[in-house]
Amino acid sequence: MSELKHNRVYNFNAGPAAVPLEVLERVQEQWFNFQGSGMNLMEMSHRSKEFDAVHNETIARVKSLLNLGDEYHVLFLQGGASTQFGMLPMNFLNKDQTADYINTGTWSTKAIKEAQKFGNVNVAFDGNTVDFMRLPTQDELQLTEDAAYVHVTSNNTIKGTQFFEFPKVDAPLIADMSSDILSHTMDASQFSMIYAGAQKNLGPSGVTLVILRDDFYATAHDAVTTMLSYKTHVDKNSLYNTPPTFAIYLMGEVLKWVEEKGGVAGMEQRNRAKADMLYGFFEENPEFFRCPVSPESRSWMNVCFRLPTEELEGRLVNEGKAAGFIGLKGHRSVGGLRISMYNANGVESVEAVINFMKGFMKRNG
Ligand SMILES: *Cc1c(COP(=O)(O)O)cnc(C)c1O
Repeated sequence: MSELKHNRVYNFNAGPAAVPLEVLERVQEQWFNFQGSGMNLMEMSHRSKEFDAVHNETIARVKSLLNLGDEYHVLFLQGGASTQFGMLPMNFLNKDQTADYINTGTWSTKAIKEAQKFGNVNVAFDGNTVDFMRLPTQDELQLTEDAAYVHVTSNNTIKGTQFFEFPKVDAPLIADMSSDILSHTMDASQFSMIYAGAQKNLGPSGVTLVILRDDFYATAHDAVTTMLSYKTHVDKNSLYNTPPTFAIYLMGEVLKWVEEKGGVAGMEQRNRAKADMLYGFFEENPEFFRCPVSPESRSWMNVCFRLPTEELEGRLVNEGKAAGFIGLKGHRSVGGLRISMYNANGVESVEAVINFMKGFMKRNG
């Protein structure tokens, strides 16, 4: 039995992940009758005035939270971040051009594979050489002159590393921010394109946020199939066909919540506090907990750690689950344990899991 409201659990899932309870409650209030329309928002036309307002307010919130100027286009697309791995080179990489990719984990590796289908890829840093346990320094990057663009994964959800300072490059900089968008303050104007599947920091699965700066966008190819062409979606404000209306609405509600909590600066404050607390706890107990990621590269979003044996790791996952702590298992490709704590996870959820782990250590240490 959970002591939390609605009998909920402490949710540390990596994605889809926790959504703020306040958002769920607010959506529930509108469930049968959205703003007096007599319908749930999902039952409405994507051309209705009610949805139109939701759509454009959500775009405005993205722009204001990220401090984006008028030179940026904000799109809501489908197919997940994984579709962006292919759509980006399909629209922006010619056969005779080279794009630089900084390979810092599983998702970067997938993005590279897609780009290789369209043009040349230069791996500017190969994280395999360091087991993906740290990020590159600026000096280590082997960049191409006249690269079509440079691609970086801002937070490596599976390996547990995160960029807080981004590489300085001359070519257009593109970031997959699926797992850390709006988690800390940063200068978005350094990016020509940002994309993020919503299901980690922005709400539910089913919508992918894509942000394109106009000067980079202007170089997109024309000969791309309609639905995979950025031009289609920029020209029609993401309303060429039926967009994922309900997912966009929920994203808008999450963004409203972020604003109420102090915006990105507010998120940064609470994310920093959570990370300091959790990594600090592990460092105080090095005989029992070990963080394989180099301290300077550690993610605030996905905290990867190990116990002395795999048997103990399995037991912590199971006992955690029974005590109401969900999602402690590491990704199947790397093993070990992982606590994912995106914007929606409050400081109190991290305090609670630390208390649980203290007891577990006492019983098993
Ligand atoms: C989860 C994730 C993806 C994959 O997202 P989908 O929406 O499932 O395609 C890509 N990149 C990163 C960094 C992720 O965390």
